[in-house]
Amino acid sequence: SIQANGVTKRFGAFVALDDVDLDVHAGALTALLGPSGGGKSTLLRVIGGLETPDAGEVSIAGRDMTRVPAHERNVGFVFQHYAAFQHLSVFRNVAFGLEIRRRPKAEVRRRVNELLELVHLEELADRKPAQLSGGQRQRMALARALAAEPSVLLLDEPFGALDTKVRRELRGWLRALHDEVHVTTVFVTHDQEEALEVADEIVVVNNGKVEQVGSPSDLYDKPANDFVMEFMGPVT
Ligand code: ATP
Ligand code: MG
Repeated sequence: SIQANGVTKRFGAFVALDDVDLDVHAGALTALLGPSGGGKSTLLRVIGGLETPDAGEVSIAGRDMTRVPAHERNVGFVFQHYAAFQHLSVFRNVAFGLEIRRRPKAEVRRRVNELLELVHLEELADRKPAQLSGGQRQRMALARALAAEPSVLLLDEPFGALDTKVRRELRGWLRALHDEVHVTTVFVTHDQEEALEVADEIVVVNNGKVEQVGSPSDLYDKPANDFVMEFMGPVT
């Protein structure tokens, strides 16, 4: 599981996260949902070690991570605009994290093929990132993030830059992928429909605070306050 206790993050005098507690279940697919500027990305970055909190602790699988830098946390990241190596093929992009760990060639080949199959890109292994659609590129990014066998997968609006139709497809696909790999996953979205459809659990983040944590049906049927009620529904 991922736990945050009393996490506060300031940028100058501005309080981006205000004494946040969080408990993300191991193996679950959890959404951080809320309006723009609410603190979702900051919370994800603190969990991933890209930001250091001013107060509070973060632990992953019982280990205190507060002072552990991102590259030692075994977390996989995918962002809205994914930075791939443009001169490398899809295959080599996915293989990169394994190659720098000096894994044997045969093992790299087997693992990359497995991952490309998982994200349905096995046919496109020889293409360059520029020759992929936006949705295919984000699937490559997920395969790349999974290559290092992270204990936690952190996704910040992974489908945010895509058009509505592709977003819809990828939602269902993310759910199916998660059901296959069961990596503890936290994904950020400002789209309540996306959170309701995909997540096991939803954390509503607003104004640097957690407004409510619950299952999609809890949030929709039993909103804890007016803010959650207004933000959650009605789904169009
Ligand atoms: P969005 O949905 O627009 O991505 P968000 O919920 O992810 O929003 P954050 O990016 O976490 O919001 O930002 C929370 C607040 O902290 C915002 O008001 C933002 O302007 C501020 N903030 C974030 N990063 C910094 C920074 N590096 N320096 C100063 N202020 C920042
Ligand atoms: Mg954000």
